[in-house]
Amino acid sequence: MMRKNMKNIMITGIVLLICTFASSLTASADSNGSLFEVDASLLNMRSGPTHEAPIVGQLEDGDQLRTFEEQNGWVKTFFAGEPVWVNSEYLKLIKEDHNKEDENIEDSNSISKTVEEQVEKENDVIFSSSEPIFIDLPKDYEFFLESREVKISEHAVTVTKEILEDYHIVLDAGHGGHDSGGTNNGLKEKDLTIKTASVIGEMLEEKGAKVSYTREESDKEFISLQERVKMSNKLDADAFISLHYDWFDDPNANGIGTYFYHNNNKSLDLAKSVHSSLIHHVDMKDRGVRNVPYYVLRNNQEPAILLELGFISNPNNFEVIQKDEYREKVAEAITNGLIEYFSK
Ligand SMILES: [Zn+2]
Repeated sequence: MMRKNMKNIMITGIVLLICTFASSLTASADSNGSLFEVDASLLNMRSGPTHEAPIVGQLEDGDQLRTFEEQNGWVKTFFAGEPVWVNSEYLKLIKEDHNKEDENIEDSNSISKTVEEQVEKENDVIFSSSEPIFIDLPKDYEFFLESREVKISEHAVTVTKEILEDYHIVLDAGHGGHDSGGTNNGLKEKDLTIKTASVIGEMLEEKGAKVSYTREESDKEFISLQERVKMSNKLDADAFISLHYDWFDDPNANGIGTYFYHNNNKSLDLAKSVHSSLIHHVDMKDRGVRNVPYYVLRNNQEPAILLELGFISNPNNFEVIQKDEYREKVAEAITNGLIEYFSK
């Protein structure tokens, strides 16, 4: 329940703050920046100005947003920094023209920069001003900015929490020891999975999560599937993610697949959130989300998924999956997927 509230706050907060910044950046362009309120119980945000465009989020009755462009009854606003469109039929005009206020926000761009650069510790005041900050949020509102829960009051922006702070994630680097997993031209799956796990783990820790590993970099030992699951169940973590790279006889097989097992309802949600984030972030073929009774999924008491992050046996995937850049993208995608999953 608490998590649900957090999500609403997160969506509204990000929309409003980003809009405020965006409006000041585009004030000189031909944008109106009018302030609207949602006048419907739920309003879909879509990636384009049509009913067919994919839904990227939802606003609730009373949420406020700024609009910057109109097309056939659809208006553009911003969500998590990305332009999104909502049907203007369900909006109520609150205040026209934001340009005058923008002159007062003089340096909202640098406020944004200050926020990003200075957010370090919990309860840090990351911005304060003797002058009011023009951000259209109710007083003492809490929301997330750049993965931190932030509190905005009239003259200060304060960090209250890291977004994944209450969560414990188990990362399971597939294979290890005498079990190399898939191999191709000297490349071993066990080495790729351990590198991937450490990049993901670092990123999750940056967002405040507690991370445990079933296998450490220095660990040359073989760890059985039974031991991995035992470890996970004992830790009583919030999510278990097993990392693999695929191998198949046919070198044409390629792409990313996500697996879950139906013994845990949450596993499907976790699989969906992480998979869609991966497909969105990484330029790989979508092999879908599938229900498969793998041992580490079947016997896990935590929400558990297994990711096949590309094919070692496919020439194109083989090149891509060895790059640091790919691991970074995968880590970012998994982190975002987890944030989405936990905020449901
Ligand atoms: Zn594997």
